[in-house]
Amino acid sequence: MKTCTSCHRRKPDDGFYAHRNGLRSHCKICMRKAARENALAKTETLRPKKKAYMKVYDAQPHRRAARSAYARSPRGREVYRLIKRAAVAFRRVSA
Ligand SMILES: [Zn+2]
Repeated sequence: MKTCTSCHRRKPDDGFYAHRNGLRSHCKICMRKAARENALAKTETLRPKKKAYMKVYDAQPHRRAARSAYARSPRGREVYRLIKRAAVAFRRVSA
């Protein structure tokens, strides 16, 4: 038995992840909760940066050429056709 330093609940040892020669001080549930919150916070801060980067990256000549070649390939034509169809259906539903 061990007490979590985050939620202050006493839990059996298998309620804690192993760490070095012992156990973590936060229980598995608190660790998972913190990991989820960190991932969400990171997504929110990184999304605008990633979007700005991709805008610049996608404007490069080699990326424009690759997109254009893909759009003309059989697979690309099929994918763009499905996207266009989905967009029309979405507009119909949201209108
Ligand atoms: Zn806890």
